[in-house]
Amino acid sequence: MASTTAITLVATVFIIVLSLLILRGFLPSQRTADEKVSSVPKPTVVSKLLSTSLPESVVLPGSSAFTKATNSYWAKQESEVIPACVVRPRTTEELSVAVKILKQEYDKDPRGMFAVRSGGHSPVPNAASIQGGVLIDLSLFNKVILSEDKSSVTIGAGNRWKDVSAVLDKNDLAVVGGRNSNVGVGGLTLGGGLSFFSPQFGLVCSNVISYEIILASGTVTTASELVNSDLWHALKGASNNFGIVTSFRVHAFQSRNVWSGFLYLPNSQSSKVVAAFHEFVGRTDTYDKYTAGPIACFSYVQPLGIQVVSVNLVYTKPEKWPACWKSSGFTSLWRFWSTCKVQSLTSATDEMNNLNPPGRRQLLAATTIKNDLPTLFAAHAIYRDSIEALRGVKGLSWTLVMQPILPEWVRMGSPNPMGLDTD
Ligand SMILES: Cc1cc2nc3c(=O)[nH]c(=O)nc-3n(C[C@H](O)[C@H](O)[C@H](O)COP(=O)(O)OP(=O)(O)OC[C@H]3O[C@@H](n4cnc5c(N)ncnc54)[C@H](O)[C@@H]3O)c2cc1C
Repeated sequence: MASTTAITLVATVFIIVLSLLILRGFLPSQRTADEKVSSVPKPTVVSKLLSTSLPESVVLPGSSAFTKATNSYWAKQESEVIPACVVRPRTTEELSVAVKILKQEYDKDPRGMFAVRSGGHSPVPNAASIQGGVLIDLSLFNKVILSEDKSSVTIGAGNRWKDVSAVLDKNDLAVVGGRNSNVGVGGLTLGGGLSFFSPQFGLVCSNVISYEIILASGTVTTASELVNSDLWHALKGASNNFGIVTSFRVHAFQSRNVWSGFLYLPNSQSSKVVAAFHEFVGRTDTYDKYTAGPIACFSYVQPLGIQVVSVNLVYTKPEKWPACWKSSGFTSLWRFWSTCKVQSLTSATDEMNNLNPPGRRQLLAATTIKNDLPTLFAAHAIYRDSIEALRGVKGLSWTLVMQPILPEWVRMGSPNPMGLDTD
């Protein structure tokens, strides 16, 4: 009965990550200003109107600021989508002016005109980029302001999570935020958001107290449980569908260092890792709320011709090898080495980021399944069997990631704002 309950309640997300290394080595490749200019679209009516109205906040092809803005995506293919101009508003007023111009021109010619970018970590071309259109780059919305009583933080939508944890670490505080230091606050929070703190507090979006948002009319407004509560609810998981969010006010809580790191194991341990994953995630009755993960990654690295397994284990308290992980099947597996240690949240999220550098072509696919051992093994077998056909793809890095998302996490904070099936 216990195992049936676990199978029914626990869902597992798979992500298949395919990244092509652009150079022969592992260094990211970025295009120069000259290369960009040769493939850029001509100025448009809208880009001219914007640069006239906001001369200090619109950057045009040929400038180093333009190259920097269009190169700062995680996935290489996003950097190859070239806008006619980049708007980098410094204030909500400037963003409002830009949105009003876009709306006015959209009413005349309703073709795809603009894209919004926070941290640029979406690998989907045109999700946060637009060929020949207007790119709204939120990077100057970069303030992180702690409330006087330190119970909440207002985070500009252009921050990356490392900017947030850098401020909070100094105050022994944390928020329910990203696990990778370089990912943007905007896209992750509006997309739902899985955090190391989700087992304790729920999804990232479920911990947002209020949003400051610019609507399509150019109006700047706030959405919270008391003001525009329907919009507040709708924004949890909404991505860019209801407006451009300029800042998020989120709950803050005491947190001083975490225990976090990766175990690196030979490919021969794969089956045991899958079994340990299944057993650990199935502990629904004894799941320790400070436990985050496991995130099990099975990788084929074509340039080296090897397969390796890495498992991320986290405990959101500064406790070495806490009982929950000590009693897991991962501890006894033969491994090359472990990087698990007590460290700051910034350092833990940097470790995640270092394993996923920018500048490569990326393709991601994700699906959710129940925590059923035969299904997990079948999924791993499909991944393993696909490798043979991929051996000739030069520079390929091919990874299957298994990570848990438990119904309990979805029910905490604002309960299940995205309407996920928690049965
Ligand atoms: C290496 C890596 C690690 C990741 N780790 C995690 C993780 O730990 N937890 C997790 O939940 N997800 C994670 N993700 C997924 C990540 O949250 C999404 O890709 C997210 O969209 C990235 O946010 P961004 O701001 O960097 O993206 P962007 O590419 O800038 O934006 C993504 C989308 O959100 C929209 N958007 C962004 N900001 C705003 C705004 N202020 N207003 C309106 N629309 C906006 C954009 O228009 C775009 O459609 C990870 C992704 C990668 C590549």
